[in-house]
Amino acid sequence: MQIRIVALGLLAGLWPGIAPAADIAGTRAAIGRSLDGQYPRLDALYRDIHTHPELSFQESRTAAMLAAELKALGYEVTEKVGKTGIVALYRNGPGPTVMVRTELDALPLEEKTGLPYASKAKQMLRGVETPVMHACGHDIHMAAWVAVARTLIELKDQWSGTLMFVGQPAEEAGGGARAMVADGLFTRFPKPDYGFALHVGPGPYGYVSYKPGVINSTSDSFSVTFIGKGGHGSRPHTTIDPIVMAGHFIVDVQSVISREKDAARFGVVSIGSLQAGNAGNVIPDTATLRGTIRSYDNDTRLKMLAGVERTAKAVALMAGAPPPDYRLVEGAKAVVNDDGLAARSGAVLKEAFGDKARLSAEPGSASEDYSEFVIAGVPSFYFGIGGIDPATFAQATASKTPLPGNHSPEFAPVPEPSIRTGAEAMSLVVLDVLQKR
Ligand SMILES: [Zn+2]
Ligand SMILES: [Zn+2]
Repeated sequence: MQIRIVALGLLAGLWPGIAPAADIAGTRAAIGRSLDGQYPRLDALYRDIHTHPELSFQESRTAAMLAAELKALGYEVTEKVGKTGIVALYRNGPGPTVMVRTELDALPLEEKTGLPYASKAKQMLRGVETPVMHACGHDIHMAAWVAVARTLIELKDQWSGTLMFVGQPAEEAGGGARAMVADGLFTRFPKPDYGFALHVGPGPYGYVSYKPGVINSTSDSFSVTFIGKGGHGSRPHTTIDPIVMAGHFIVDVQSVISREKDAARFGVVSIGSLQAGNAGNVIPDTATLRGTIRSYDNDTRLKMLAGVERTAKAVALMAGAPPPDYRLVEGAKAVVNDDGLAARSGAVLKEAFGDKARLSAEPGSASEDYSEFVIAGVPSFYFGIGGIDPATFAQATASKTPLPGNHSPEFAPVPEPSIRTGAEAMSLVVLDVLQKR
């Protein structure tokens, strides 16, 4: 997923009365010194992870690397929680338990960044070998997560409580957070009093963005297989053409968005996969489409789910075909930040980053199964960091040229400033809730 970095001129004194108690500038400087010392090692780790991306629930190598890093730091590490997930605990006196979560997985894409350490990795996906790439920046998150784990150990005389570092599988395909919760994440291990996560996006690096309340969309995925009747391409009248059905569906389903959904409410239907036939002169028997449905609120979501299914059935009916095989996979719900924690952590970020800490006006349209942890009762703060050179960003904004974003084969956040910003911001908000009183 991605967090949009929204430029807003709001800010100073947004939450009067919530003033960070600690010396934020001094703490930030101490974090910076820790990062200076560990950066060469982090850079090597980042490049290694970037070059060896792994798909959802196949993140064994990645998980083992992170587990080894945290074990070496003195964390008590449990592996294979929710298939490939890891949990690392560090007890440092009385106080709250704080979860810091990273995702472990990459995407089935062929990398086109041209970077010297670009991925050439391949893995099996639904029985087919596919290229794999860290196109969502989870490699940045992992490097920042390890950096925070080390920084907090180096600064351990400044806080008291329990750290719970969670490496979550299968955020992209969905189901990873749920698998960890089902495997006892909050029963075999302490249930966190606070949870934190971050995401890099195509905003300028050095910047952080945050928002109380709803921060991103619900996500449901669906597949529809149109069942036609195959035959020779020269004799279409003897067939029922599933490719024509697929074509109608792709176009007509957008009327659900433009004519049925309230235009004032966010909602998107996108088809990302279409598979049918393999010869130009053969009409195949079936055509299968896969897509995603996103919204911020449940009424809009239900309206879209009904509209997409009805459109699929109507297209088949119009072609004289049997009803299509329609499958809905309910996905991530919206991530909702805890208002109190967002106010507190937001104030810390504002104090530390000044004009480079920005309040997002609107939720982002991507989605994220971190929502499972929120639903399980962990008050959370999920925030965004930028990953793109500010000069490139400014130029793109001026010329209205969209930059490659998350899930693009060209998405290439700049490692060092992104990792440092993520690690600084995360260390600060975690230290704030673990302050000795
Ligand atoms: Zn993603
Ligand atoms: Zn992501």
